[in-house]
Amino acid sequence: MNKELLRRLPKVDELLNQEKIKKYLNITMRNIIVDSIRETICNYRNMIIKGRIDAFTNEDIINSVIMTIEEKDEFRLRKVINATGTVIHTNMGRSLLSKGAVERVIDVVENYNNLEYDINKGKRGLRYSHIEEIITKITGAEAAMVVNNNASAVMLVLSTLCYEKEAIVSRGQLVEIGGSFRVPEVMKLSGAKLVEVGTTNRTHLFDYENNISEDTGVLLKVHTSNYKILGFTEEVPLDELVELGKEHNIPVIEDIGSGVLVDFSKYGFAYEPTVQESIKKGVDVVTFSGDKMLGGPQAGIIVGKKKYIDKMKKNQLTRALRIDKMTLAALEGTLKYYLDEEEAIKNIPTLSMILADKDDIMKKAQKLKEMLEKSLRNYDFNISADFSMVGGGSMPTEKVDTYVIRIKSKKIATEKLEYLLRMNKIPIIVRVCNDEIILDLRTIFEKDFNTILDAFQNAESKL
Ligand SMILES: *Cc1c(COP(=O)(O)O)cnc(C)c1O
Repeated sequence: MNKELLRRLPKVDELLNQEKIKKYLNITMRNIIVDSIRETICNYRNMIIKGRIDAFTNEDIINSVIMTIEEKDEFRLRKVINATGTVIHTNMGRSLLSKGAVERVIDVVENYNNLEYDINKGKRGLRYSHIEEIITKITGAEAAMVVNNNASAVMLVLSTLCYEKEAIVSRGQLVEIGGSFRVPEVMKLSGAKLVEVGTTNRTHLFDYENNISEDTGVLLKVHTSNYKILGFTEEVPLDELVELGKEHNIPVIEDIGSGVLVDFSKYGFAYEPTVQESIKKGVDVVTFSGDKMLGGPQAGIIVGKKKYIDKMKKNQLTRALRIDKMTLAALEGTLKYYLDEEEAIKNIPTLSMILADKDDIMKKAQKLKEMLEKSLRNYDFNISADFSMVGGGSMPTEKVDTYVIRIKSKKIATEKLEYLLRMNKIPIIVRVCNDEIILDLRTIFEKDFNTILDAFQNAESKL
């Protein structure tokens, strides 16, 4: 053991007085700095004792302290740059909130608010009353309520309408949505008994009909969000299922998944069923997510016939699944735009990114490429046409035309470069394809161009 080296380790106070470290007192908390110093000294002591180092400079220690301070000062949940082009990326927080939605959240949470207060009556009010009207106006439903997410919405609906009764569902719709949300498992937890009918690729009306009994609670349709069965397939059209439900006085429930409120086929996309259409066709209850195609906060929205929604409001589970004021504020701020479709597309980032104009994406690509080329020597940059994904289990087969910048370093292996970009102070998450870094401009904002440039510069400086 190198005792001399151990003796040379600085004391906490000495390091606290170093100009480079002192500076951080203006930026972060003293406790974080002191912790970082202790941790660094302790690390060095261990390395010396284990004989892993036989020399160090003061500068080494100071730099190590600063790195530790910066690590400790970082928030764990933080901004990343999504350069993958996948708009609704569940790993990266799904939908970005619009400016309007963010403003609503700030106004509501920085102040007291009327969350459960009826201003007109001067008495206790209902949490859900603030958004029921706008949701019903947009969807055409009689009534609405909102819970934590769509998984809980499905649970609440089944627990309310199908407890210890049978839910008839097509085998082709027993889906697993990412994060291991499995329709059959959720149904079990809700107390509903699953009756699978038909086959994986084909289910007919008579499959439902033959299984209806006095134990039947609901007929359930699940949107197979994240996959498509192609070829020899048949699903029962929604109107026929609704007709069957009516004949037998059994509610028809639809988990439509993504919650599309705008008809995307108008904009050149394959047709996705909208919530409005399901309501129009007479489905009794429809559930969908707030943070997928709708472009709002995480939430599960339930719309449908008032007599059913009223029952759900009284279900004790509702209390456990309730949403908070931030979600309500963000949801109202998002939904407001839907009163005018053009406003929705212009202001809700999820919609504007999905529907972004190809030429605008090209212009962004050219601008970023020029910026990078001007300052970076050791890379090759090429723009080419490619495809983005919508993501979030929505429109799984839709390939959306986009432009990407393909990047190869002359000095850094692509795998290493991907790592360095990901480890950037503001992480940059990219695609890698054919040993090239791919930046898809669909999901990259101009305000982040400088950060991206910095990250490539830092990567170069690490050579
Ligand atoms: C995404 C999805 C869910 C889960 O929704 P969350 O809001 O993530 O809970 C449930 N059903 C379908 C069909 C989905 O696409």
